[in-house]
Amino acid sequence: MQNVTKFFVHQIFLTKLEHNSYKDKGREMDILHVSAECYPVAKAGGLGDVVGALPKYQCKMGHYAKVVMPMYRTKFLYQHEWTIDFKGRTNMGNWWFDYTIIKEKNNVLGFDLFLVDINGLLDREKIYGYADDTERFTAFQIAVVDWVNHWEHKPGVIHCHDHHSALIPFILKHSYQYNRLQDVPTVLTIHNAQYQGWMGWDKSIYLPVWDRWKGGLLEWNKTLNPLAAGIKTAWKVTTVSNSYLEELKYMSNGLEKLFQYEQGKCVGILNGIDTDIWNPATDEYISHQYDTATMTEGKLANKKVLCERFNLNEENPLIVFIGRMVGEKAADVLPDAILASLYSLQGNANFLILGSGEPHVEWQLSQLTGALSGNYNVFIGYDEALSHQMYAGADFLLMPSRVEPCGLNQMYSMKYGTVPVVRNTGGLHDTVLDMGDGGWGIRFEHASVGDITHAVNRAAAVYKDKKELTRMQQHMMKLDHSWENAVQQYLNVYQSLKF
Ligand code: ADP
Repeated sequence: MQNVTKFFVHQIFLTKLEHNSYKDKGREMDILHVSAECYPVAKAGGLGDVVGALPKYQCKMGHYAKVVMPMYRTKFLYQHEWTIDFKGRTNMGNWWFDYTIIKEKNNVLGFDLFLVDINGLLDREKIYGYADDTERFTAFQIAVVDWVNHWEHKPGVIHCHDHHSALIPFILKHSYQYNRLQDVPTVLTIHNAQYQGWMGWDKSIYLPVWDRWKGGLLEWNKTLNPLAAGIKTAWKVTTVSNSYLEELKYMSNGLEKLFQYEQGKCVGILNGIDTDIWNPATDEYISHQYDTATMTEGKLANKKVLCERFNLNEENPLIVFIGRMVGEKAADVLPDAILASLYSLQGNANFLILGSGEPHVEWQLSQLTGALSGNYNVFIGYDEALSHQMYAGADFLLMPSRVEPCGLNQMYSMKYGTVPVVRNTGGLHDTVLDMGDGGWGIRFEHASVGDITHAVNRAAAVYKDKKELTRMQQHMMKLDHSWENAVQQYLNVYQSLKF
């Protein structure tokens, strides 16, 4: 198969692998992030946002952070210039493959970005959802380790994100071929423990020849479980909020006991938000920019744009949902909850939904447009620009999530003066305080039609109380969810590894 990189790499400079030394750059810590997503290169959810921001802020604070991820066929790939950093050849079981590491040439993201090209395997349009995802992400991880093994210097820490990179700590420790990297510290951040990358034991031969006495480290509930292997073998494990870490001990899709055993090496660190991108005063995706002083007019102007586009009545409170239409987000409850809420409010509310996911939920939400025209609309799909406009133009953001590791949506909405209406779980619990307790949001306990309807009724009541609404909006817009705090906590974690 032809090497895809040949077709689009604008300029090719074969470089020695000397970029890898943080000492050369006189910086403090050398951090390699390994991830399946990174905004704006490729994003499916919060993982992308975090990996697009955390390294940038680590670099701003004087460290040398970089990201390596698969080379998908995304717009970003074709719109930027690349150099070839390394070409290698390795194997996944019996399959030998060539891989190429390309590097973004101009540091446009504020950190060095490396992409792994493996012919035919990674260079596809979507990030996930292929029958051979196991092979894709396993080969990706093997290529990353092989590449790092060719560096002149070892990285200070390898920071893995979710199950797509969670086999790396095991490979470093127990694959003979990479013995040289055994002492490289690893951190695994869990953005979502629902997805664990399970595979059958027949695929254990994919991993570079490993110490067969260590099979127990790969295993959980009789399958080869990459996320579990990462939790067992990474030097430290972090989750994206404290409450989520606590919840994982009782509800983590089968890993509960493991989180209980390993709690000593787990730390919760709340995500920040990237205010270079998420700031209503500078956001180029929104039609009218605003700050705390111009918030009321600014939000109204943005709301008008949405109401015109989606045929909604701008007099009514506008309640939006943005996210993946999956069980975790309780999107399946939305159709009934919206019907019940509009019924109880006698049509004096608007709902606007943006997302995609399970087909039956998409279908149900699409069907409602006919019956609820004027009060309801939906956009099925992924639209970054529309999401920004919705954070800006909405009055309320609804998040009934059953599971919410951190949740970025509520933090974006607060930055844009949009009141979060959230289920009291995970990161939502850690970031939203109910207005009844002197806070700036609305919290409810269950992802049920009854609780959501009650919460929406509270939202409609506060919408009429403009003084209280403005107090909440002003307060939440000034909350500090910047990355600096989280970056410091990650540095503390790295430092605790004493490298
Ligand atoms: P997740 O569990 O999906 O990672 P998060 O709250 O951590 O949830 O992050 C979700 C991110 O994805 C936010 O930036 C949100 O705006 C974005 N997002 C989700 N669905 C869509 C969509 N359909 N269109 C645009 N952005 C979306």
